[in-house]
Amino acid sequence: MRASGRIGIVGAGLSGAVIGRELAEAGHQVEIFDARNHIAGNCHTERDEETGVMIHVYGPHIFHTDDREVWDYVNSFQAFMPYKNRVKATSGDQVYSLPVNLHTINQFFGKTFRPDEARTFIEAQADTSIEDPKTFEEQALRFVGKDLYEAFFQGYTQKQWGCSPTELPASILKRLPVRFNYDDNYFAHKYQGMPENGYTDMIGRILDHPNINVSLKTRFVRAQKDDFAHVFYSGSLDGYLDHEFGPLGYRTLDFERFEYDGDYQGCAVMNYGDVSVPYTRITEHKHFSPWEEHKGSVCYREFSRECGPEDIPYYPIRLVKDKEQLAQYVERASRETAITFVGRLGTYRYLDMDVTIREALDTARLYLAREAENASMPVFLHSPI
Ligand SMILES: Cc1cc2nc3c(=O)[nH]c(=O)nc-3n(C[C@H](O)[C@H](O)[C@H](O)COP(=O)(O)OP(=O)(O)OC[C@H]3O[C@@H](n4cnc5c(N)ncnc54)[C@H](O)[C@@H]3O)c2cc1C
Repeated sequence: MRASGRIGIVGAGLSGAVIGRELAEAGHQVEIFDARNHIAGNCHTERDEETGVMIHVYGPHIFHTDDREVWDYVNSFQAFMPYKNRVKATSGDQVYSLPVNLHTINQFFGKTFRPDEARTFIEAQADTSIEDPKTFEEQALRFVGKDLYEAFFQGYTQKQWGCSPTELPASILKRLPVRFNYDDNYFAHKYQGMPENGYTDMIGRILDHPNINVSLKTRFVRAQKDDFAHVFYSGSLDGYLDHEFGPLGYRTLDFERFEYDGDYQGCAVMNYGDVSVPYTRITEHKHFSPWEEHKGSVCYREFSRECGPEDIPYYPIRLVKDKEQLAQYVERASRETAITFVGRLGTYRYLDMDVTIREALDTARLYLAREAENASMPVFLHSPI
Protein backbone atom coordinates (compact mmCIF):
# COMPACT_ATOMS: atom_id res chain seq x y z
CA MET A 1 0.00 0.00 0.00
CA ARG A 2 1.26 3.46 -0.91
CA ALA A 3 1.99 6.04 1.75
CA SER A 4 -1.06 7.58 3.33
CA GLY A 5 -2.43 10.32 1.09
CA ARG A 6 -5.52 11.59 -0.68
CA ILE A 7 -8.28 9.10 -1.24
CA GLY A 8 -10.30 9.19 -4.47
CA ILE A 9 -13.88 7.97 -4.43
CA VAL A 10 -15.95 7.48 -7.55
CA GLY A 11 -19.66 7.93 -6.90
CA ALA A 12 -21.46 10.05 -4.29
CA GLY A 13 -24.11 7.37 -3.69
CA LEU A 14 -24.41 5.43 -0.43
CA SER A 15 -21.24 3.38 -1.07
CA GLY A 16 -19.05 6.38 -1.78
CA ALA A 17 -20.55 8.55 0.96
CA VAL A 18 -20.18 5.96 3.75
CA ILE A 19 -16.62 4.97 2.79
CA GLY A 20 -15.71 8.65 2.42
CA ARG A 21 -17.09 9.56 5.83
CA GLU A 22 -15.30 6.72 7.64
CA LEU A 23 -11.97 7.61 6.04
CA ALA A 24 -12.48 11.34 6.60
CA GLU A 25 -13.19 10.67 10.29
CA ALA A 26 -9.88 8.77 10.42
CA GLY A 27 -8.06 11.85 9.13
CA HIS A 28 -7.85 11.22 5.36
CA GLN A 29 -8.46 13.88 2.74
CA VAL A 30 -11.23 12.50 0.54
CA GLU A 31 -12.10 13.61 -3.03
CA ILE A 32 -15.46 12.32 -4.27
CA PHE A 33 -16.51 12.52 -7.93
CA ASP A 34 -19.96 12.03 -9.35
CA ALA A 35 -20.93 12.34 -12.99
CA ARG A 36 -24.48 13.41 -12.04
CA ASN A 37 -25.55 16.87 -10.91
CA HIS A 38 -26.65 15.58 -7.50
CA ILE A 39 -25.40 13.39 -4.65
CA ALA A 40 -27.11 10.20 -3.35
CA GLY A 41 -26.85 8.07 -6.52
CA ASN A 42 -29.96 6.03 -7.22
CA CYS A 43 -31.37 6.78 -3.76
CA HIS A 44 -31.78 10.45 -4.76
CA THR A 45 -34.96 12.15 -3.51
CA GLU A 46 -36.16 15.67 -4.23
CA ARG A 47 -39.18 17.72 -3.30
CA ASP A 48 -41.56 18.44 -6.16
CA GLU A 49 -41.86 22.21 -6.43
CA GLU A 50 -45.53 22.27 -7.33
CA THR A 51 -47.04 19.70 -4.95
CA GLY A 52 -44.39 19.60 -2.20
CA VAL A 53 -44.30 15.77 -2.47
CA MET A 54 -40.94 14.04 -1.80
CA ILE A 55 -40.09 12.22 -5.04
CA HIS A 56 -37.95 9.08 -5.21
CA VAL A 57 -36.39 10.11 -8.51
CA TYR A 58 -34.90 6.70 -9.51
CA GLY A 59 -37.75 4.60 -8.15
CA PRO A 60 -39.09 3.94 -4.65
CA HIS A 61 -36.63 3.24 -1.84
CA ILE A 62 -37.78 1.74 1.46
CA PHE A 63 -35.23 1.22 4.21
CA HIS A 64 -35.38 -2.20 5.89
CA THR A 65 -32.74 -4.13 7.80
CA ASP A 66 -31.96 -6.58 10.58
CA ASP A 67 -28.53 -5.03 11.03
CA ARG A 68 -28.65 -3.02 14.24
CA GLU A 69 -25.38 -1.17 13.60
CA VAL A 70 -26.57 -0.06 10.15
CA TRP A 71 -29.91 1.06 11.58
CA ASP A 72 -28.15 3.10 14.27
CA TYR A 73 -25.80 4.49 11.62
CA VAL A 74 -28.58 5.87 9.39
CA ASN A 75 -30.54 7.16 12.39
CA SER A 76 -27.47 9.10 13.54
CA PHE A 77 -27.71 11.21 10.36
CA GLN A 78 -31.47 11.55 10.02
CA ALA A 79 -34.65 10.77 11.96
CA PHE A 80 -36.41 7.76 10.47
CA MET A 81 -40.21 7.81 10.33
CA PRO A 82 -42.27 4.61 10.66
CA TYR A 83 -43.10 3.18 7.25
CA LYS A 84 -44.38 -0.26 6.24
CA ASN A 85 -44.52 -1.16 2.58
CA ARG A 86 -47.97 -2.59 1.85
CA VAL A 87 -48.16 -3.38 -1.85
CA LYS A 88 -51.33 -4.08 -3.81
CA ALA A 89 -51.70 -5.84 -7.17
CA THR A 90 -54.22 -5.40 -9.95
CA SER A 91 -54.85 -8.64 -11.83
CA GLY A 92 -57.74 -8.93 -14.26
CA ASP A 93 -60.53 -6.79 -12.85
CA GLN A 94 -59.63 -7.22 -9.17
CA VAL A 95 -57.26 -5.64 -6.68
CA TYR A 96 -55.41 -8.04 -4.36
CA SER A 97 -53.16 -7.89 -1.33
CA LEU A 98 -49.45 -8.67 -1.81
CA PRO A 99 -47.19 -10.50 -1.10
CA VAL A 100 -49.53 -13.44 -1.67
CA ASN A 101 -51.02 -14.05 1.80
CA LEU A 102 -54.13 -15.55 3.34
CA HIS A 103 -56.15 -12.51 2.28
CA THR A 104 -54.96 -12.87 -1.35
CA ILE A 105 -55.77 -16.58 -1.39
CA ASN A 106 -59.25 -16.02 0.03
CA GLN A 107 -59.89 -13.08 -2.34
CA PHE A 108 -58.58 -14.94 -5.38
CA PHE A 109 -60.40 -18.25 -4.82
CA GLY A 110 -63.50 -16.71 -3.17
CA LYS A 111 -62.94 -18.65 0.08
CA THR A 112 -62.86 -18.05 3.82
CA PHE A 113 -59.97 -20.41 4.61
CA ARG A 114 -58.20 -20.45 7.93
CA PRO A 115 -54.37 -20.83 7.75
CA ASP A 116 -54.24 -24.66 7.84
CA GLU A 117 -57.04 -24.99 5.32
CA ALA A 118 -55.29 -22.57 2.97
CA ARG A 119 -52.02 -24.47 3.27
CA THR A 120 -53.72 -27.77 2.40
CA PHE A 121 -55.54 -26.09 -0.50
CA ILE A 122 -52.36 -24.53 -1.96
CA GLU A 123 -50.47 -27.82 -1.56
CA ALA A 124 -53.18 -29.44 -3.66
CA GLN A 125 -52.74 -26.72 -6.33
CA ALA A 126 -48.98 -27.23 -6.51
CA ASP A 127 -47.65 -29.25 -9.44
CA THR A 128 -45.90 -32.08 -7.60
CA SER A 129 -44.97 -33.80 -10.88
CA ILE A 130 -42.09 -31.28 -11.06
CA GLU A 131 -39.51 -33.00 -8.87
CA ASP A 132 -36.45 -30.91 -9.54
CA PRO A 133 -37.49 -27.39 -10.67
CA LYS A 134 -34.91 -25.87 -13.05
CA THR A 135 -36.68 -22.72 -14.21
CA PHE A 136 -38.53 -19.89 -12.46
CA GLU A 137 -41.77 -21.14 -13.99
CA GLU A 138 -41.28 -24.72 -12.75
CA GLN A 139 -40.38 -23.46 -9.29
CA ALA A 140 -43.49 -21.25 -9.11
CA LEU A 141 -45.79 -24.01 -10.44
CA ARG A 142 -44.41 -26.37 -7.85
CA PHE A 143 -44.84 -23.88 -5.02
CA VAL A 144 -48.20 -22.24 -5.79
CA GLY A 145 -49.81 -23.95 -8.80
CA LYS A 146 -50.99 -22.58 -12.14
CA ASP A 147 -53.67 -20.06 -11.08
CA LEU A 148 -51.66 -18.00 -8.58
CA TYR A 149 -48.58 -18.28 -10.81
CA GLU A 150 -50.42 -16.82 -13.80
CA ALA A 151 -52.08 -14.04 -11.80
CA PHE A 152 -49.16 -12.82 -9.71
CA PHE A 153 -45.83 -14.14 -11.04
CA GLN A 154 -45.87 -14.93 -14.75
CA GLY A 155 -46.75 -11.57 -16.38
CA TYR A 156 -44.95 -9.43 -13.82
CA THR A 157 -41.73 -11.43 -14.14
CA GLN A 158 -41.94 -11.40 -17.93
CA LYS A 159 -42.30 -7.61 -17.98
CA GLN A 160 -39.60 -7.09 -15.34
CA TRP A 161 -36.97 -9.30 -16.98
CA GLY A 162 -38.00 -9.07 -20.64
CA CYS A 163 -38.02 -12.82 -21.11
CA SER A 164 -40.23 -15.78 -20.35
CA PRO A 165 -40.05 -17.19 -16.79
CA THR A 166 -39.13 -20.47 -18.55
CA GLU A 167 -35.76 -18.86 -19.40
CA LEU A 168 -34.99 -17.69 -15.86
CA PRO A 169 -33.33 -19.90 -13.24
CA ALA A 170 -35.38 -21.42 -10.39
CA SER A 171 -33.00 -19.76 -7.91
CA ILE A 172 -34.77 -16.38 -8.41
CA LEU A 173 -37.75 -17.77 -6.48
CA LYS A 174 -35.86 -19.21 -3.53
CA ARG A 175 -38.55 -19.74 -0.92
CA LEU A 176 -42.28 -20.37 -0.87
CA PRO A 177 -43.59 -16.93 -1.91
CA VAL A 178 -46.85 -17.31 0.06
CA ARG A 179 -47.84 -16.45 3.64
CA PHE A 180 -50.61 -18.34 5.41
CA ASN A 181 -51.61 -15.41 7.62
CA TYR A 182 -52.78 -11.83 7.03
CA ASP A 183 -49.31 -10.26 7.28
CA ASP A 184 -49.08 -7.93 4.27
CA ASN A 185 -45.88 -6.12 5.32
CA TYR A 186 -43.75 -6.55 2.20
CA PHE A 187 -40.49 -6.83 4.13
CA ALA A 188 -39.82 -9.11 7.09
CA HIS A 189 -36.96 -7.08 8.58
CA LYS A 190 -36.94 -5.88 12.19
CA TYR A 191 -36.15 -2.22 11.41
CA GLN A 192 -38.09 -0.40 8.68
CA GLY A 193 -38.65 3.25 7.92
CA MET A 194 -38.15 6.31 5.77
CA PRO A 195 -35.75 9.21 6.37
CA GLU A 196 -37.86 12.17 7.40
CA ASN A 197 -36.31 14.62 4.91
CA GLY A 198 -35.46 12.11 2.20
CA TYR A 199 -32.33 10.13 1.29
CA THR A 200 -30.50 13.00 -0.38
CA ASP A 201 -30.65 15.06 2.80
CA MET A 202 -29.40 12.05 4.80
CA ILE A 203 -26.52 11.37 2.40
CA GLY A 204 -25.70 15.10 2.35
CA ARG A 205 -25.21 14.91 6.12
CA ILE A 206 -22.96 11.85 5.75
CA LEU A 207 -20.85 13.81 3.26
CA ASP A 208 -20.77 16.92 5.42
CA HIS A 209 -17.24 16.68 6.83
CA PRO A 210 -14.34 19.14 6.51
CA ASN A 211 -12.06 16.42 5.04
CA ILE A 212 -14.52 15.60 2.22
CA ASN A 213 -14.71 17.45 -1.08
CA VAL A 214 -17.44 16.47 -3.57
CA SER A 215 -17.20 17.36 -7.28
CA LEU A 216 -20.50 16.90 -9.10
CA LYS A 217 -20.92 16.75 -12.90
CA THR A 218 -17.40 15.31 -12.95
CA ARG A 219 -16.79 11.95 -14.61
CA PHE A 220 -13.77 10.14 -13.20
CA VAL A 221 -11.52 8.54 -15.80
CA ARG A 222 -8.97 5.78 -15.30
CA ALA A 223 -6.01 8.09 -15.94
CA GLN A 224 -6.88 10.00 -12.74
CA LYS A 225 -6.20 6.98 -10.56
CA ASP A 226 -2.54 7.83 -10.01
CA ASP A 227 -3.49 11.13 -8.36
CA PHE A 228 -4.62 9.16 -5.29
CA ALA A 229 -3.13 6.82 -2.70
CA HIS A 230 -6.18 4.60 -3.20
CA VAL A 231 -9.40 4.75 -5.21
CA PHE A 232 -12.77 3.28 -4.19
CA TYR A 233 -14.80 2.84 -7.35
CA SER A 234 -18.61 2.56 -7.18
CA GLY A 235 -19.07 3.13 -10.93
CA SER A 236 -19.55 0.21 -13.31
CA LEU A 237 -16.84 -2.45 -13.43
CA ASP A 238 -17.14 -2.95 -17.20
CA GLY A 239 -17.15 0.84 -17.74
CA TYR A 240 -13.87 1.21 -15.83
CA LEU A 241 -12.31 -1.45 -18.05
CA ASP A 242 -13.58 0.26 -21.24
CA HIS A 243 -16.10 -2.56 -21.89
CA GLU A 244 -13.19 -4.72 -23.02
CA PHE A 245 -15.33 -7.90 -22.94
CA GLY A 246 -18.58 -6.22 -24.03
CA PRO A 247 -21.18 -4.43 -21.86
CA LEU A 248 -22.51 -6.39 -18.86
CA GLY A 249 -26.28 -6.93 -19.16
CA TYR A 250 -28.61 -4.70 -17.14
CA ARG A 251 -32.30 -3.88 -17.11
CA THR A 252 -33.17 -0.22 -17.11
CA LEU A 253 -36.38 1.54 -16.06
CA ASP A 254 -38.43 4.30 -17.70
CA PHE A 255 -40.68 6.37 -15.47
CA GLU A 256 -43.72 8.06 -17.01
CA ARG A 257 -44.66 10.80 -14.59
CA PHE A 258 -48.20 12.08 -14.16
CA GLU A 259 -49.92 14.35 -11.68
CA TYR A 260 -53.27 13.94 -9.98
CA ASP A 261 -55.34 16.30 -7.88
CA GLY A 262 -56.07 14.23 -4.77
CA ASP A 263 -55.30 10.59 -4.00
CA TYR A 264 -54.78 8.59 -7.22
CA GLN A 265 -54.60 5.00 -5.96
CA GLY A 266 -54.77 5.09 -2.15
CA CYS A 267 -51.42 3.30 -1.69
CA ALA A 268 -47.74 3.79 -2.51
CA VAL A 269 -47.26 0.81 -4.85
CA MET A 270 -49.78 -0.90 -7.16
CA ASN A 271 -48.35 -3.80 -9.20
CA TYR A 272 -49.81 -4.81 -12.55
CA GLY A 273 -49.33 -8.52 -13.26
CA ASP A 274 -51.19 -8.72 -16.59
CA VAL A 275 -49.04 -8.68 -19.75
CA SER A 276 -51.73 -6.62 -21.48
CA VAL A 277 -50.68 -3.69 -19.23
CA PRO A 278 -47.25 -2.51 -20.46
CA TYR A 279 -45.99 -1.16 -17.14
CA THR A 280 -45.02 -3.22 -14.08
CA ARG A 281 -46.34 -0.88 -11.41
CA ILE A 282 -47.54 2.61 -10.50
CA THR A 283 -45.95 4.36 -7.54
CA GLU A 284 -47.67 7.31 -5.85
CA HIS A 285 -44.91 9.14 -4.06
CA LYS A 286 -46.79 11.02 -1.37
CA HIS A 287 -47.72 7.69 0.22
CA PHE A 288 -44.01 7.03 0.90
CA SER A 289 -44.19 9.92 3.41
CA PRO A 290 -47.47 9.15 5.24
CA TRP A 291 -46.64 11.69 7.98
CA GLU A 292 -46.89 14.53 5.43
CA GLU A 293 -50.04 16.00 3.90
CA HIS A 294 -50.26 17.09 0.25
CA LYS A 295 -53.33 17.85 -1.80
CA GLY A 296 -51.68 17.24 -5.16
CA SER A 297 -50.07 13.95 -6.11
CA VAL A 298 -47.19 12.75 -8.31
CA CYS A 299 -47.20 9.22 -9.72
CA TYR A 300 -44.78 7.19 -11.84
CA ARG A 301 -45.76 4.48 -14.29
CA GLU A 302 -42.74 2.16 -14.32
CA PHE A 303 -41.60 0.33 -17.46
CA SER A 304 -38.71 -2.13 -17.56
CA ARG A 305 -36.54 -2.80 -20.63
CA GLU A 306 -33.06 -3.82 -21.75
CA CYS A 307 -30.41 -1.24 -20.87
CA GLY A 308 -28.74 0.48 -23.85
CA PRO A 309 -25.39 2.33 -23.83
CA GLU A 310 -27.01 5.69 -22.96
CA ASP A 311 -29.41 4.35 -20.30
CA ILE A 312 -29.07 4.16 -16.52
CA PRO A 313 -28.21 0.60 -15.48
CA TYR A 314 -30.64 -0.53 -12.74
CA TYR A 315 -30.81 -4.30 -12.26
CA PRO A 316 -27.88 -6.59 -13.14
CA ILE A 317 -29.22 -9.54 -15.15
CA ARG A 318 -26.66 -12.16 -14.01
CA LEU A 319 -27.76 -14.99 -16.30
CA VAL A 320 -25.21 -17.55 -17.52
CA LYS A 321 -23.88 -15.36 -20.36
CA ASP A 322 -23.50 -12.32 -18.07
CA LYS A 323 -21.70 -14.37 -15.44
CA GLU A 324 -19.19 -15.69 -17.99
CA GLN A 325 -18.46 -12.12 -19.08
CA LEU A 326 -18.31 -11.03 -15.44
CA ALA A 327 -15.66 -13.68 -14.68
CA GLN A 328 -13.49 -12.13 -17.43
CA TYR A 329 -13.89 -8.66 -15.93
CA VAL A 330 -13.13 -9.91 -12.42
CA GLU A 331 -9.98 -11.66 -13.63
CA ARG A 332 -8.88 -8.51 -15.50
CA ALA A 333 -9.68 -6.17 -12.58
CA SER A 334 -7.81 -8.40 -10.12
CA ARG A 335 -4.57 -7.34 -11.81
CA GLU A 336 -5.17 -3.68 -10.83
CA THR A 337 -3.57 -2.14 -7.78
CA ALA A 338 -4.57 0.72 -5.45
CA ILE A 339 -8.24 0.43 -6.40
CA THR A 340 -11.18 -1.35 -4.77
CA PHE A 341 -14.47 -1.90 -6.61
CA VAL A 342 -17.51 -1.40 -4.39
CA GLY A 343 -21.28 -1.02 -4.46
CA ARG A 344 -23.94 -2.20 -6.84
CA LEU A 345 -22.20 -1.21 -10.11
CA GLY A 346 -18.63 -1.91 -9.02
CA THR A 347 -19.50 -5.48 -8.06
CA TYR A 348 -22.41 -6.07 -10.52
CA ARG A 349 -24.83 -7.21 -7.80
CA TYR A 350 -28.26 -6.04 -6.66
CA LEU A 351 -27.66 -4.61 -3.19
CA ASP A 352 -30.27 -3.25 -0.83
CA MET A 353 -29.30 -0.03 0.92
CA ASP A 354 -28.58 -1.71 4.27
CA VAL A 355 -26.24 -4.22 2.62
CA THR A 356 -24.57 -1.38 0.70
CA ILE A 357 -23.92 0.46 3.98
CA ARG A 358 -22.72 -2.68 5.78
CA GLU A 359 -20.27 -3.44 2.95
CA ALA A 360 -19.09 0.18 2.81
CA LEU A 361 -18.41 0.25 6.57
CA ASP A 362 -16.51 -3.05 6.35
CA THR A 363 -14.52 -1.80 3.36
CA ALA A 364 -13.44 1.42 5.06
CA ARG A 365 -12.51 -0.42 8.25
CA LEU A 366 -10.44 -2.97 6.37
CA TYR A 367 -8.66 -0.16 4.53
CA LEU A 368 -7.71 1.51 7.79
CA ALA A 369 -6.55 -1.78 9.32
CA ARG A 370 -4.44 -2.65 6.25
CA GLU A 371 -2.99 0.83 6.16
CA ALA A 372 -1.90 0.49 9.79
CA GLU A 373 -0.15 -2.81 8.89
CA ASN A 374 1.25 -1.36 5.65
CA ALA A 375 -0.52 -4.20 3.83
CA SER A 376 -2.35 -3.98 0.50
CA MET A 377 -6.09 -3.67 0.02
CA PRO A 378 -7.98 -6.26 -2.09
CA VAL A 379 -9.50 -5.21 -5.42
CA PHE A 380 -12.78 -6.85 -4.34
CA LEU A 381 -13.87 -7.29 -0.73
CA HIS A 382 -17.12 -8.81 -1.87
CA SER A 383 -16.68 -11.09 -4.86
CA PRO A 384 -19.00 -10.18 -7.76
CA ILE A 385 -19.25 -13.86 -8.75
C1 LIG B 1 -35.47 0.68 -8.83
C2 LIG B 1 -34.71 0.40 -7.58
C3 LIG B 1 -35.36 0.39 -6.36
C4 LIG B 1 -34.65 0.13 -5.20
N1 LIG B 1 -35.35 0.09 -4.03
C5 LIG B 1 -34.69 -0.19 -2.89
C6 LIG B 1 -35.41 -0.30 -1.66
O1 LIG B 1 -36.64 -0.14 -1.61
N2 LIG B 1 -34.70 -0.59 -0.54
C7 LIG B 1 -33.35 -0.79 -0.55
O2 LIG B 1 -32.77 -1.05 0.50
N3 LIG B 1 -32.64 -0.68 -1.70
C8 LIG B 1 -33.27 -0.39 -2.86
N4 LIG B 1 -32.56 -0.29 -4.03
C9 LIG B 1 -31.09 -0.43 -4.01
C10 LIG B 1 -30.34 0.92 -3.84
O3 LIG B 1 -30.63 1.76 -4.93
C11 LIG B 1 -28.83 0.63 -3.75
O4 LIG B 1 -28.58 -0.09 -2.57
C12 LIG B 1 -27.94 1.86 -3.73
O5 LIG B 1 -28.26 2.77 -4.73
C13 LIG B 1 -26.48 1.44 -3.91
O6 LIG B 1 -25.66 2.57 -3.77
P1 LIG B 1 -24.28 2.69 -4.56
O7 LIG B 1 -23.58 3.88 -4.00
O8 LIG B 1 -23.55 1.39 -4.56
O9 LIG B 1 -24.69 2.93 -6.10
P2 LIG B 1 -25.39 4.18 -6.82
O10 LIG B 1 -26.49 4.71 -6.00
O11 LIG B 1 -25.69 3.72 -8.20
O12 LIG B 1 -24.23 5.28 -6.89
C14 LIG B 1 -23.16 5.18 -7.82
C15 LIG B 1 -22.83 6.60 -8.29
O13 LIG B 1 -21.62 6.56 -9.05
C16 LIG B 1 -21.69 7.54 -10.06
N5 LIG B 1 -20.72 7.17 -11.11
C17 LIG B 1 -20.65 6.02 -11.83
N6 LIG B 1 -19.59 6.03 -12.65
C18 LIG B 1 -18.96 7.22 -12.46
C19 LIG B 1 -17.77 7.82 -13.00
N7 LIG B 1 -16.99 7.20 -13.90
N8 LIG B 1 -17.41 9.06 -12.57
C20 LIG B 1 -18.18 9.72 -11.64
N9 LIG B 1 -19.30 9.19 -11.09
C21 LIG B 1 -19.68 7.95 -11.49
C22 LIG B 1 -23.15 7.46 -10.52
O14 LIG B 1 -23.52 8.69 -11.13
C23 LIG B 1 -23.90 7.20 -9.20
O15 LIG B 1 -24.36 8.43 -8.64
C24 LIG B 1 -33.24 -0.10 -5.23
C25 LIG B 1 -32.58 -0.09 -6.46
C26 LIG B 1 -33.30 0.12 -7.62
C27 LIG B 1 -32.58 0.04 -8.94
